[in-house]
Amino acid sequence: MYTLLNGLYKHITQKDEFFVLILGLDNAGKSTFLESAKTRFVKDYKGKNLGKITTTVGLNIGKIDTNGVRLNFWDLGGQQELQALWDKYYQECHAVIYVVDSNDRERIHESKESFVKMLSNSNLTGVPLLVAANKQDLEECMGVREVKPLFESSDEHVGTREVMVLATSGLRGEGVVEGIDWIAQCVIRNKHVRPPHDKENG
Ligand code: GDP
Repeated sequence: MYTLLNGLYKHITQKDEFFVLILGLDNAGKSTFLESAKTRFVKDYKGKNLGKITTTVGLNIGKIDTNGVRLNFWDLGGQQELQALWDKYYQECHAVIYVVDSNDRERIHESKESFVKMLSNSNLTGVPLLVAANKQDLEECMGVREVKPLFESSDEHVGTREVMVLATSGLRGEGVVEGIDWIAQCVIRNKHVRPPHDKENG
């Protein structure tokens, strides 16, 4: 009887687990965005000094519980040689956050090229996509109106997936909560296409 009740309790309290990739060129603000999200969603989390985060080399990870599910984040390095590793994670993931440095006009086309390449991978078909037009706190940056047409109307690969282009500042925390909540709702809606991974204790 105890085992039965314990099993039932676990079943009720366990959360569906989803995996979210955070991609974008190096220096776009991926690590800062994730860190900023963790400080807002993870109770008692003592965050790092956001202004002192350095570019992702390798992999940063994070866990956030929201909307009744657990989101596991993989923040992958954006340097050319590391981009080659991105596709190893596509099949496993449930959503992508693509971070764009809206203040870097020189590299905006390079960022778009990586974005188009990413979306052309069939392992990402139908996967919800949040484009974070990041660093909106900087005065000279491109606004969402400028970034949006570049990344939204990108090409046919955007397809029927859910897409949102959102103004963010990882550094100031703007758009971070909205973005993460949107991702959580998308992966829940898309559950029949990409089912969650094995449940873990809540
Ligand atoms: P990553 O390489 O994509 O992980 O980028 P990081 O998170 O390491 O950020 C690269 C640089 O951009 C760091 O100096 C950050 O402080 C800065 N940065 C990140 N997000 C923002 C932002 O929203 N606004 C501003 N002004 N700077 C940012």
